[in-house]
Amino acid sequence: MTMTSMFDLALPGIQKLIPYTPGKPIEELERELGLSEIIKLASNENPSGPSPQVTDAIKQALPDITRYPDGNGFKLKSVLAEKYGVEPCQITLGNGSNEILELVARTFLTPDLNVVFSQHAFAVYPLVTQSVGAKAQEVAARDYGHDLVAMREHINDKTRLVFIANPNNPTGTLLAADALEEFIASLPAHVICVLDEAYYEYVDPAKRADAIAWLAHYPNLLITRTFSKAYGLAGLRVGFGLASAEMSDLLNRVRQPFNNNALALVAAETALQDQDYLQHSVALNNAGMQLLTEAFAALGLSWIPSAGNFVSVDFGRDAQPIYQALLQKGVIVRPVANYGMPTFLRISIGTDVENRFFIQVLSDVLNDV
Ligand SMILES: *Cc1c(COP(=O)(O)O)cnc(C)c1O
Repeated sequence: MTMTSMFDLALPGIQKLIPYTPGKPIEELERELGLSEIIKLASNENPSGPSPQVTDAIKQALPDITRYPDGNGFKLKSVLAEKYGVEPCQITLGNGSNEILELVARTFLTPDLNVVFSQHAFAVYPLVTQSVGAKAQEVAARDYGHDLVAMREHINDKTRLVFIANPNNPTGTLLAADALEEFIASLPAHVICVLDEAYYEYVDPAKRADAIAWLAHYPNLLITRTFSKAYGLAGLRVGFGLASAEMSDLLNRVRQPFNNNALALVAAETALQDQDYLQHSVALNNAGMQLLTEAFAALGLSWIPSAGNFVSVDFGRDAQPIYQALLQKGVIVRPVANYGMPTFLRISIGTDVENRFFIQVLSDVLNDV
């Protein structure tokens, strides 16, 4: 028998795939350094901890975990439909909104089609594109944000998907609502626009696009949202897609029947009702953003103005030694060299105590390195 390399058997797109790099886990750094006080500002999680209403609901639901969850997520979809003024048949629930990104790729892509997204855009877009063998068409960014004019010019007969993150991660850039709608309206009917609104709740209401209202006009629009960020449930993995009933039906055919676990469903339903928690989280984020950006200004650093719960700061030189020095002092942030931004670090907004600790450590580190 001749030996076949498993690598050679894989799809060409997967051979070239660069795995997603998550933020360093706190436990890992604790083990490495023997430090006990570590703060993680690396994964854009809500620093407030979960809503107490959510933890109570999970405790109550615990005895039910012997049963399969509701494969249709009836209750969660009802609450979402009510809140967003859509029909339950327009909703697809995902194991995080990342799963929705994967479902749309698996539903619509083949190796002869291409996908358009921006430079410095969320790393999962090339990942899902390449894993189904489709061609990734990255378009140069403008001022670190999406260049919608250039993106439109790159769309051709073989384009089936375009991904837009608004706000974008890791840059935090936000598109103007009218420019965004104009772009969606300009798309040929064979191109699906995936509008990733993972940070929607953090956006200043005066600057938000009302994309859900656009669903009535654009059957090729898919909006994704998540419970991982402002709702504070990243560890439970719940996200959702909103689209036309026709597109949602297709995505739901591809979806695994029990992709959301029972506790995650209960937690998400409860989280949606706790608007005080959401408001508190957004206010905490706004105050933290102001504190951090004022500190950057005082340190003579520039940053990309961000509409999310994180900010990318430019050190004007290779940021890796600064990242390492911060780690040594127990602060985990996120390098973004893999996003083509080697002089930047992305900082998630923490609690007030965490933010102040980070600023102190950062100024010490900048004096040393
Ligand atoms: C965090 C994030 C997501 C959401 O991921 P989940 O799978 O819902 O946890 C999606 N898009 C962007 C741009 C993100 O930053």
